[in-house]
Amino acid sequence: MRCDSRRSLFFAASVILASMLVAAGAHANQEPPAPLVRVVDLDIGEAQTIALSNGDAVTVKLLDLDEVRDTIRNAVRRATVKVEVAGRTVSLVSSTYHLPVTVGNVQIDCPVTQGYTANSSKDNAWGLTKAARIRLWPAGSPWVRPGTFIYPVKQCWFATDTQMANVPVFVDGGELPSNKNIYYHYGLDFGGAEKLVEVVAATDGQVISAGTDVLPGYDDSPVRPRYDVIYVKDARGWFYRYSHLYEIDRSVKPGVQVQMGQRLGLLGKEGGSGGWSHLHFGIKARQPSGLWGTVNGYAFAWEAYQRQYKPDIIAVARPHCISWAGEPVELDATRSWSRCGTIAKYEWTFGDGSTVTGPRVKRTYAQSGQYNEILKITDAEGNVDYDFAVVQVLDKAHPDQTPPTIHAAYYPTFDITPGDEVTFKVRTFRSTQGHETWDFGDGSAEVTVRSDGNAEVHNPQGYAVTKHRYREPGDYIASVRRTNERGQQAVTHLHIRVETK
Ligand SMILES: [Zn+2]
Repeated sequence: MRCDSRRSLFFAASVILASMLVAAGAHANQEPPAPLVRVVDLDIGEAQTIALSNGDAVTVKLLDLDEVRDTIRNAVRRATVKVEVAGRTVSLVSSTYHLPVTVGNVQIDCPVTQGYTANSSKDNAWGLTKAARIRLWPAGSPWVRPGTFIYPVKQCWFATDTQMANVPVFVDGGELPSNKNIYYHYGLDFGGAEKLVEVVAATDGQVISAGTDVLPGYDDSPVRPRYDVIYVKDARGWFYRYSHLYEIDRSVKPGVQVQMGQRLGLLGKEGGSGGWSHLHFGIKARQPSGLWGTVNGYAFAWEAYQRQYKPDIIAVARPHCISWAGEPVELDATRSWSRCGTIAKYEWTFGDGSTVTGPRVKRTYAQSGQYNEILKITDAEGNVDYDFAVVQVLDKAHPDQTPPTIHAAYYPTFDITPGDEVTFKVRTFRSTQGHETWDFGDGSAEVTVRSDGNAEVHNPQGYAVTKHRYREPGDYIASVRRTNERGQQAVTHLHIRVETK
């Protein structure tokens, strides 16, 4: 991620123009344009013919479904569907940071499969009653209509931890071996620095609820008001949930129309956040089952970010991994992306200082702990980006002795130049022992802070705060760690890009 918000100025002008065009369309009493995406739920062996947004008919058949579960929690970690579409056969991995792929004259993805609803703590958040859901677009089509959707946080891509669709929640220490009732995430969690990161409306729309105030008439809807939550309904009929807000903007009241990009509030850790500061952003709509269910917004967020910020390169080392000590883990960077089309080098640096290259690497951990492995990618044009793979390692002999987990974030994430003050926040989970130690990655002295260890989820001082200034332009990797009373360590990293003035 090249975190340069100046690139979004042109975008802002385009949004205004697009909004004017949409407004002009509305005056002519036109129906709002239907979503570009088409959705079909299929059982194995079932075929359906769907009209794409461009009018083309395409037949899609579900041939097979393979769900791989871990041996720790019996959670689905990878679901693969085999699909016949437009006469071709393709395998698709469901969500977990996968984007739609092009097959002949269509683009296709698989947001969810039935295994994710079988041992879910959130019931059937997707409204799926068949084996798998498939989505289709014409080849070359945007995934979400330009001018109708933007990135909902004013923050650099992957600035800190995320929990996107079908990933068991993990940042707050939620991956407990004793808990086989899995909170598979369905919306999109964007981690960020509490009370600092602005949350903006991803779309135009009407506010249905803001805090506990609700517009009447939405009993049959996905709206579930809470003090920290806003619901907005857009012209597609989709309901957007913005959760865990530290603060809701005063202008946001039930019945009010919000504009895409309008400030809704500040990112926080209120409500059922688990204590880590993030925006939970979820989209719900009527599904083919007739039930309300999740619309996976990851591809839309990806596409919106690409339009707004024009990154050259994005490293992807997600989702996190979980394993027993002594058993191999595969780290996978193959979802990384470069505008020029060729990633020339994948370099991993592990916590013990060793390095290895390759898009997919295997590694075994002898000790339990939360590891955070550094991925550096370099493309054919010399552009560089970093991401980090979270690996949670547990001791099979003592599965209840879980290591700590840790979340860090920084602000601002854009347009940092030498001498600028950057705020760093950190909180540890599952341990109140010890303290956090920061290394800002620029040769400066380590700094010790102490978070509350998530002792009280909503403690306003729960995160430990420190500030740092970088003296020179460059890419910096900051690290922060904490060790519990058993000597189990959690570590995490942040990538901070300091621009030339
Ligand atoms: Zn969430």
